[in-house]
Amino acid sequence: MKNWLTRFDYYWKGLRSQGRLSFEYKYCATEPPVISDNIIYIVGKRPYIWAIIFRCPCGCREIIYLNTLKTANPRWKHFVRWGRIYIYPSIWRRVGCKSHFHIRGGRVDWSYI
Ligand SMILES: [Zn+2]
Repeated sequence: MKNWLTRFDYYWKGLRSQGRLSFEYKYCATEPPVISDNIIYIVGKRPYIWAIIFRCPCGCREIIYLNTLKTANPRWKHFVRWGRIYIYPSIWRRVGCKSHFHIRGGRVDWSYI
């Protein structure tokens, strides 16, 4: 359960990033040596994608690794519509900044739950 302060923090993050936090995406065969701020890296050779890697959009700049392998749990999926990336389910960090957000159409939607 989150207290009001945490909720305010999420609200503030949302305001701060409103309308300007968006990601491009890039396919790469192996893990990229440099992770740029506004790029989501989809790693592997299609159709064998094994990870989605990007920097946390909250400002902490930590690198988030999402597993996309069928055998892994938890597992994330992505799809691209009109040149924009969607990732589901939502991303909820258990460590560090504890951010909870969705990537929809390349944009960050903060979750306030
Ligand atoms: Zn963060």
